[in-house]
Amino acid sequence: MSLSITQASQRVAELRTLLHKANHAYYVEDRPYIEDSVYDYLYKELLDLEEKHPELISLDSPSQRLGGAPAKRFISVKHRVPLLSLDNGFNFKELEAWHSRVNKLLERKREFDLKNSYWNMVGELKIDGNALALSYENGVLIKAATRGDGVEGEEITANIKTIHSVPLCLNLQNPPPWLEVRGEAFIPNRKFAELNKERKLRKESEFANPRNACAGTLRQLDPQVVASRQLDFFAYSIHLPENWTPQNKDLCSPSDQWHALQWLKTAGFKVNPNTKILKNLNEVEAFFTHWDTGRQRLPYATDGVVIKLNEFSLQEEIGSTNKAPRWAIALKYPAAEVPSKLRKLTYQIGRTGAVTPVAEFEPVSLAGTSVSRATLHNANRLNTLDLHNGDTIVVRKAGEIIPEVVRVLKELRAPTAKPLQLPHYCPECNSKLIRAQSEAVTRCINNSCPAILKGALRHWVGKGALNVEGLGQKLIEQLVERKLVKSLASLYEIDAIQLAKLDRMGRTSAEKLVKALAASKKKSWYKQLYGLGIYHVGEANAKVLAQAFPSISKLADAACNTPELIKEIYGIGDEIIESLSEWFSNPSNQKLMTELKLVGFLLAESPEELKDKSEQLITKYGSVSGKTFVLTGTLPSLSRNEAKSLIEENGGKVNSTVSTNTTYLVAGDKAGSKLKKAEQIGITILNEKELKKILL
Ligand code: NAD
Repeated sequence: MSLSITQASQRVAELRTLLHKANHAYYVEDRPYIEDSVYDYLYKELLDLEEKHPELISLDSPSQRLGGAPAKRFISVKHRVPLLSLDNGFNFKELEAWHSRVNKLLERKREFDLKNSYWNMVGELKIDGNALALSYENGVLIKAATRGDGVEGEEITANIKTIHSVPLCLNLQNPPPWLEVRGEAFIPNRKFAELNKERKLRKESEFANPRNACAGTLRQLDPQVVASRQLDFFAYSIHLPENWTPQNKDLCSPSDQWHALQWLKTAGFKVNPNTKILKNLNEVEAFFTHWDTGRQRLPYATDGVVIKLNEFSLQEEIGSTNKAPRWAIALKYPAAEVPSKLRKLTYQIGRTGAVTPVAEFEPVSLAGTSVSRATLHNANRLNTLDLHNGDTIVVRKAGEIIPEVVRVLKELRAPTAKPLQLPHYCPECNSKLIRAQSEAVTRCINNSCPAILKGALRHWVGKGALNVEGLGQKLIEQLVERKLVKSLASLYEIDAIQLAKLDRMGRTSAEKLVKALAASKKKSWYKQLYGLGIYHVGEANAKVLAQAFPSISKLADAACNTPELIKEIYGIGDEIIESLSEWFSNPSNQKLMTELKLVGFLLAESPEELKDKSEQLITKYGSVSGKTFVLTGTLPSLSRNEAKSLIEENGGKVNSTVSTNTTYLVAGDKAGSKLKKAEQIGITILNEKELKKILL
């Protein structure tokens, strides 16, 4: 989106305020309050705006400064060679752009024949720690400093001496008069977890990430504390005096990055073993992809890979900016959380009338897909977020799948921004919205609200329910908006001629849809029950309810008069029973049942289903005809006589004593000796429910 100069200037000011504050929290207080990925994203936005509008660049812009100023707690020291940062790339396109920039620079600087040009790169892991500058004189560590602003850092030698992997003296026979080593101090994952656990126990604020924990540790005034945190260090670059030539068996000055790493190893430093010579962009991409998963197994945190032009002479030719070398790029792994700008808040009204606020924002890329909307669930969430119009929000993908708004960056909020709240009236039908005190959900309770009807229709024709092909969202919207469909039942009254007149419909598709609708009337009883969209009656519950109650009238009767019969079903609790009784007592649902029956729905088991079921029961229990029953104890709902006549009506025989000729003993409450005897002989024992099943 292109901004006018006024808008750009306003956004630049907003971004600077936030980035200055973030830098202070991060570099001075060691307490970042936004994610690094969010910082990187906003920083990039600032760089892009400043590039488009150079007139907006000011000396105090965060883009003009590297890192943070040294804190006051330690002495400032000037670095012998400036300690720069790295330019970032967030995708392969940015990597390619960097590669061709390097190519062009090399070409411009000297006769670099592009066709025959060949320059190797070195791929290294980007360790998520803090850069250190180590100064050695005649082979002895004399000073260690943080990066600070790149020119001056903080002297933390005593602290660094506690890191076992930092050699106090070099493993060289004739060390150079001076040596500057750069590398990354980091806290191992295990130690980071332990540290945060302890802090949590002590009710202290936890470190946001390992990098921060490391920075906080490096700045400790007591080296004992630093020692206890067991920091580690990987060296990755050296600066040696020009013209230094080693004597004896020591290595000579390396002429490229690859050999510099080997040199460091020989001199006694710990060098990360996961480095590789990369000949072209394909190899770089493979290296990046490999470590995207590989890094999960490492005992320390990494946030990307660093790609460096190998040859030192070529590095020198293209040089550095005041912030970063042109010959290297940090290719970062995709962020888990990124910021975006809220465009508007919309509302979804579901089939139960629940109003769900949805944040619509500028598209961002998350876990490999472009995302521009996220549900905010309910009014509570909206209030907790304290969302205002035009807010900059932080979004992520929960469980890598569902987009979610994590928080609002209030520092970037315009002073005139208004808070956003759920409306008082339904945006679809304008009737008053209701929120029960005990519920987080706000609802539209107007049964003829078009949004509720659309939701109900979508559910009714959906895959788990009647699965009507050719009736998608767009068509449902047209049908409701043109008032052609006013209820689930009226969907079956519409003909092919009317359908064919709708957008994106022709005669053939209209006729097909009419056929599909007619066929849907034959769908099994449980699918019809599920399709009604009764609150809490999902597919699994619909299945067990339909199995126990062969028709809607039987289910309605049980829900309103004998809920204990429903409760007997395993897995059906009070919440579901309450919801069923509420649904069946609602006159508009009673009307719907009548209407559906009128258009041809049985809302019950079809004769075919009944036949299947009795066949299944016969396989399980055998047919009743010719079987001998004995009754004992009190059955829950049938009297002895009723049970007897039922058995006899179905062709069975009822005896009064148990013998080896008895097929079934039907036992109720307080069953006595007959039950014992039946058990001894090994006769099948049924309860009333099982008896009813085999009599069906
Ligand atoms: P950077 O972390 O993006 O990259 C440069 C750093 O990478 C080097 O200084 C070095 O320390 C490190 N590095 C690790 N492995 C390396 C290797 N093999 N070779 C060379 N260098 C290697 O940049 P930065 O300037 O150090 O820090 C800026 C970062 O700090 C940003 O990414 C940002 O996310 C974070 N930051 C966050 C906040 C916040 O509020 N969350 C504020 C300021 C800065």
